[in-house]
Amino acid sequence: MAQNSARNPGRHFLQIPGPTPVPDRVLRAMDMPMIDHRGPEFAKITKRALEGIKTIFKTTNPVVIYTATGTGAWEGALVNTLSPGDRVLMFETGQFSTLWKRMAERLGLKPEFITSDWRHGLDPKALEARLREDKAKEIKAVCVLHNETSTGALTPIAEVRKAIDAAGHPALFMVDTISSLASVDYRHDEWGVDVSVGGAQKGLMMPPGMSFNAISDKALKASQSSKMPKSFLAWDDMLNMNKVGFFPYTPATNMLHGLNVGIEMLHEEGLDNVFARHERLAEATRRAVKAWGLENLNKNESQLSPTITAILLPEGHDADKFRALALDSFNIAYGASFGAHAGKYFRIGHLGDINDGTLIGALAITEMALALAGVPHKKGGVQAAMDYFAAQHGGGKRAAA
Ligand code: PLP
Repeated sequence: MAQNSARNPGRHFLQIPGPTPVPDRVLRAMDMPMIDHRGPEFAKITKRALEGIKTIFKTTNPVVIYTATGTGAWEGALVNTLSPGDRVLMFETGQFSTLWKRMAERLGLKPEFITSDWRHGLDPKALEARLREDKAKEIKAVCVLHNETSTGALTPIAEVRKAIDAAGHPALFMVDTISSLASVDYRHDEWGVDVSVGGAQKGLMMPPGMSFNAISDKALKASQSSKMPKSFLAWDDMLNMNKVGFFPYTPATNMLHGLNVGIEMLHEEGLDNVFARHERLAEATRRAVKAWGLENLNKNESQLSPTITAILLPEGHDADKFRALALDSFNIAYGASFGAHAGKYFRIGHLGDINDGTLIGALAITEMALALAGVPHKKGGVQAAMDYFAAQHGGGKRAAA
């Protein structure tokens, strides 16, 4: 706690890549008395949520809403479409792809993992080459992360779709869009994704505890012959009950109120404006990192994430100690580091309900914390970000009078 005080005044700087700050309007929408989750008023709330979430995934097909975090929706995607022993092709972009692969193993699937150094995103050409080799079409699903939250690598999903088609491969295409949905453009139908996996606590600006499967016709068909054991996560009961506005069990009723308002807010801003804002926040962060003379963990400049930036500290500087010092001194939370790079980098999340000013505050704190921690860096990162923001808003061309 700063200055040995029992209270930290002002807002906490929550700069992790999810959960993200929940807007007051969403919090208030959830602050409602309980109602009957099988009554007519509730059916209206559910139907609004089910229709609303389709506009976020950009699909006209059904979207399942789970009372579970993103991990539950990962499992839902696998167990509803596949059968024990099925081969799935996965890509080691970082910690979360590794966790999804471990889940596939635990469930009795046979994941094939294309490994990487966590400093490059997925290469669609490598994917195409691997699928071309699979002459017997043994690979039943290709599972990729749109945004690898642990390293800040964005996968070009449209290109991955093209690669699967170019290889003429019939595998199901599953995409984790947990830390990109409602922050980065995402098109479930247009990009031919079979199961899209989403979560509430990132771009949708909600607390954790709700997640999604957007489902294609092909995935729905696959679910009819899937032999993986499933119960709570099964799509069939859910889709049947959803038709009349209910769930097979008690859903997170108040989170549905919040979801409806979160979606309303995203459309008020305009989805394209939301995506442009995240791209602007990311670019400002990258410029600050460059000006500090620090290195981005992700070396592939064409696949940098719009929602999180992973920053390497110079050799001999412990990123976990740096995060602890910044939290203690300036009440800021950064994302942790994982895997072989654990302790070597920290992550700035720039997604959800934040604006240019919030990010400038976070970058200014970061520059102060770098100085405080004795991390060698150049001054001027915050200035670079401010100059960029000012230019983006028409810098110098808009008269103040
Ligand atoms: N996939 C990605 C890309 C994530 O960022 C996360 C969590 O941050 C997960 C999956 C797991 O989701 P959850 O922690 O909500 O279960």
